[in-house]
Amino acid sequence: VNALQYDAEGNLRHLLTLEGMPRARIESLLDRAEALLPHAHGGTGLRSALAGLALCTLFFETSTRTRCSFQLAAQRLGMDVLNFDAGTASLKKGESELDTLNTLAAMGVRAFVVRHARDGAVAELAAGALPGTVLVNGGDGRSNHPTQGLLDMLALRRRLGRDFSVLRVGIVGDVRHSRVARSDIHALTALGCREVRLCGPASLLPGEGEFPGIGTSEDLDATLEGLDAVIMLRLQRERMEQGLVPSLEDYFRRYGLSRERLARLPGHACVLHPGPINRGVEIESTVADGPQSLILEQVACGLPVRMAVLQTLLATSRGPAG
Ligand code: ASP
Repeated sequence: VNALQYDAEGNLRHLLTLEGMPRARIESLLDRAEALLPHAHGGTGLRSALAGLALCTLFFETSTRTRCSFQLAAQRLGMDVLNFDAGTASLKKGESELDTLNTLAAMGVRAFVVRHARDGAVAELAAGALPGTVLVNGGDGRSNHPTQGLLDMLALRRRLGRDFSVLRVGIVGDVRHSRVARSDIHALTALGCREVRLCGPASLLPGEGEFPGIGTSEDLDATLEGLDAVIMLRLQRERMEQGLVPSLEDYFRRYGLSRERLARLPGHACVLHPGPINRGVEIESTVADGPQSLILEQVACGLPVRMAVLQTLLATSRGPAG
């Protein structure tokens, strides 16, 4: 994947994963995003930045935040945007996903945001895409969701400061099926986070050895002790075999972030969740809507992060697609 992600000079050609991405590159994307914040929310000053270029959101799985914020981010940079609907397209007539992508590339679409249920599917499409085309992984299976990882880091950094070496961060819930957890772990590790703790029922924790050096626990109360930030995850029932969680009530009792549990965290501690949230399943409503919640701040950070990614990729890619 890294051979695909970078060109011969080491510039980003596609954004497929944060795994192995050097700290300096993550920080420069975050700095760029932070500088774009005023333009992301209401500014019109960058409408000519990528004018004349087209972006297509090619989603084979559902999305609210990723799709809409990429669309807005591209529009804020003056791009034309196509939203591809896999449900009604010629895929139904047997056209392959790669032929679909390259058909759109031949129309002049330079950038694609692709979401897919299968692990590795976005990298496979990147490998076969016409030269000059750039792909952003908008989430593949349980593997990667790099722009979510970046926007989570931006939200954390804006609330808790730039020095991750003092932070203890917990990731709670369905870690096993979560691409968000994986991209967050990649980013937190690269940024030198002091400690990352994973917590959930044994059936939803990652396989042994997947994250060496990162502690796992089935005990939420012990995990929460002394955390600066806790990232709550949705139960990814679309990726689960049956029966991994006995009942939602039981799950909330053991792994839900309630007001009482939050009260045991330090006052500065913040709560993140990538959305969509299931109120009363993994997080109590008053926590999701409370002052320690960064959930909507994460969404707000998504826009400048996606603008920064598009600007970076389209500045380094060579010429229009063949
Ligand atoms: N929206 C995120 C994703 O697509 C998280 C989730 O669905 O729970 O991975």
